[in-house]
Amino acid sequence: MPERYNLILNCGSSSVKYKVFISNTETCIAKGIVEKIGSREAGIKHKTENQKIHKVAEVLSHKKAIQLILNFLLHKEKGIIKNASNIKAVGHRFVHGGKYSDAVIVTKEVKTYLKDVTFELAPLHNPYNFQGVEAIEDILPEIPNICVFDTSFHQTIPDYAFIYGLPYRYFQKYKIRRYGFHGTSHNYVYLEAAKLLKKKKASVITCHLGNGSSISAIKDGMCIDTTMGYTPLEGLIMGTRSGDVDPAAVLHIMMEEELQIHEMETILNKQSGLLGISGISNDMREILKEKGKGNPRAILAFRAYCFRVKKYIGAYLGELNGCDAIVFTAGIGENAPQVREEVLKNMENLGIKLDTKKNAQVVGEKGIISADTSKIKVFVIPTNEELMISKIIDKLVKE
Ligand code: AMP
Repeated sequence: MPERYNLILNCGSSSVKYKVFISNTETCIAKGIVEKIGSREAGIKHKTENQKIHKVAEVLSHKKAIQLILNFLLHKEKGIIKNASNIKAVGHRFVHGGKYSDAVIVTKEVKTYLKDVTFELAPLHNPYNFQGVEAIEDILPEIPNICVFDTSFHQTIPDYAFIYGLPYRYFQKYKIRRYGFHGTSHNYVYLEAAKLLKKKKASVITCHLGNGSSISAIKDGMCIDTTMGYTPLEGLIMGTRSGDVDPAAVLHIMMEEELQIHEMETILNKQSGLLGISGISNDMREILKEKGKGNPRAILAFRAYCFRVKKYIGAYLGELNGCDAIVFTAGIGENAPQVREEVLKNMENLGIKLDTKKNAQVVGEKGIISADTSKIKVFVIPTNEELMISKIIDKLVKE
């Protein structure tokens, strides 16, 4: 039987990222991105073991971008996949899954639900994710499509943790509740942590600290709380997102500055967080650089960011009654030892002791950074959402 492949697509508002794995393995054989979709100067990157393409071309739609990706992958001479029928399935990263607590194979009913419900819940994301599904249905109608949702890992969060202190009718009418995001990443690093702990079921606090940041509390493998809410705006301070804010402060600003809803939305999502506090950048690398020079706003942004992470770790230690491990992942979690040190300092009484030497050495790779005497282990585990999606395909789709 010829080798089979899992194609993973991550369709954003103006980009499509992709990876190809050999089915039932962790081997990635191709990856790339089409950026600035909708323009005449879209950037296209495609990389395999023997090929590195980097070019600019007109790409006006997501379907065109996906066609281009498939052209590279299925190219007669240079393609790494000989025949389209060797693609076992296409996995799509979806931001919002509404009621779905697991990944689903796309059917007519699934599509109807996704359009009717989740477009309303995630209007900035799900319609683009959906374009990926429709493109594959058009171009490769024989290949099954699998949707993997950022929200589904959080569906085990109990009602008292997901309900807001708002009139209950808004939950009933508009499904206003906390959903949580980054679920595929939290799930992946949890499973990797459980392997390192040599435990089938573990209690772990997973810190996904990237441009978007969130933390999850996982008890015996099940998520019981997470910091993001109805949208990815709640919780931690992020690159450009505010995280938790008193809603009355938002109302006051809107009133004083006579702002429209969409203007305030832009401020909260795009002009706040590290960028908003520092006035310098949303990128932790820039914040660290400026902090090193003694810039007070960079120092404040850094401290506020780390403080919020520490605060939620403390809350989750309480919810979990202690835990086996804390995991750091994503751009900041994997690459910024200074952030990890600031977050975990002075937590010895809670059973957390960092080995500062090991912490400084582990950058962008898997490693243990807690001291041997630490009751709670601390791991750095690079996230790999695409691999997680590929593994889900292998579970759902038989050969
Ligand atoms: P992600 O959203 O997971 O891709 O993370 C992107 C963010 O990670 C960037 O905006 C930076 O803030 C941060 N980052 C990446 N590399 C480093 C690094 N070496 N040191 C500190 N922060 C980093």
